[in-house]
Amino acid sequence: MLNWSVVRKLLIVILALVLLAIIIVPGYRIKKQSEIQQVCRSRLEQIAKAQEKCFAQYGRYVSELTEISGDSLNCTCPLNDSLFILNMPDATHYKLFCPNEHGWISEERASWKQE
Ligand SMILES: [Zn+2]
Repeated sequence: MLNWSVVRKLLIVILALVLLAIIIVPGYRIKKQSEIQQVCRSRLEQIAKAQEKCFAQYGRYVSELTEISGDSLNCTCPLNDSLFILNMPDATHYKLFCPNEHGWISEERASWKQE
């Protein structure tokens, strides 16, 4: 014999858990995504610092990421380890992009620090 009042209570508990998951999971994903974005931008900033060091020393920016990636610099986006894109119109200007649109940084500014 099936006890319908027990089944009904069980269904209510299951429904409550499903609703809770629907509320919590997207929040967790957003938090995770913003953490990845932060790591990505921090890597871009570290490369920018290395670029400034190079410019102070040689009067030009590095045109290949492999030239500066040696000293503990990570030149990839943490989302999927794809390499950053370095765009250089000449030796005194550069723009470094995240291929996953987390931002860009140049010799003057960073996309996430604009007003
Ligand atoms: Zn990224």
